[in-house]
Amino acid sequence: MRGPQEVNGIVLFSRNYRESDKLVKIFTESSGKRMFFVRHANKKNSQINSAIQPFTQANYIGDLKEEGLSFLNSAKDIHPFFAIQQDIFLSAYATYILNLSDAAIDDNVYDPFLFGFIKDSLTLIDEGYDAEIITNIFEIQLLQRFGIQLNFSSCAICGSQEEPFDFSDKYHGVLCQKHWSMDDRRFHYSPRALHFIRLFNHISFEQIKSINLSDETKQYIRQVIDSIYEEYVGLQLKSKKFIDDMQNWKEMIPKRENKIDKQDNTN
Ligand SMILES: [Zn+2]
Repeated sequence: MRGPQEVNGIVLFSRNYRESDKLVKIFTESSGKRMFFVRHANKKNSQINSAIQPFTQANYIGDLKEEGLSFLNSAKDIHPFFAIQQDIFLSAYATYILNLSDAAIDDNVYDPFLFGFIKDSLTLIDEGYDAEIITNIFEIQLLQRFGIQLNFSSCAICGSQEEPFDFSDKYHGVLCQKHWSMDDRRFHYSPRALHFIRLFNHISFEQIKSINLSDETKQYIRQVIDSIYEEYVGLQLKSKKFIDDMQNWKEMIPKRENKIDKQDNTN
C-alpha cells in the first residue's frame, strides 16, 4: 500500500457532509479531479479549513484513491486567490471557469495542461486582468476538451485567412466572405466578434495583458460564444446563469431610473 501522497491542487468546490465533515473536490496537477473526504473540516483555526476554501491552491497531503473518496489529512503552501474570494463579480467568473472544467473532463483523468490553464486563468483574474475576456478565452480553448473541433483559423472552403469571417455549423468552422453563399444558414455573427474569437482560439495569456475591449464588442463576443456553447456543448450551469443575470442588473439600473423619470413627468 502506498502511504500518503502530496499533490498540488486547486479547489473546485466543497460541500458540508454530516455535522463537521466536508467533501471537497480538488483538481490535482498529477492525478486529475478527485473528491476528498475531510474529517472535522469546520474546526476553527484548522489549517486544513483555509486550504479547502473556494478559490484556493495548495499542496494537499492525503490518501488518493482511484475509486470512491480520497482522504485529505493536511495541506501546506496554501495560496488563496484573495481578490477573487472578496469580489462577487470576480468570483462569479472564477466559479464558472471551475464548473466548466469539472464538466469538461472525467474524474481521475491526468490533465496537467488543463490544471495549468485553470491556474493561469485564476491568477490573471486575481491580479486584476479583465475577467470577462479571460473567461471568453477559457471557454473557446476548452471546447476541444468537450470533444468539439471547430476550425476558427481559416476559411473551411478555401483556407483564406482574410477577414471578415462568419461561422458555419455546416462546415464546423469559419467561412470567408467569398464563401458565405455556401451556407445560407450561416450564423450572421458580428465580424468584429469573430476577429476576437479567432484570436482567442490560439492566444497565450502573455498576449492578453494588452487586450482592451469596448462593452459593445464584449457583448458581441458573449453572444457568439453563447450560441456556440448552446449548439455544441449544451450545458446548463447555474454559475453561467448568474453571470448572465449580473449583466442584466447592470442594464436594469438605467431602466429603473427611466421609470422614475416618467412617473415624475406625469405627476
Ligand atoms: Zn473562403
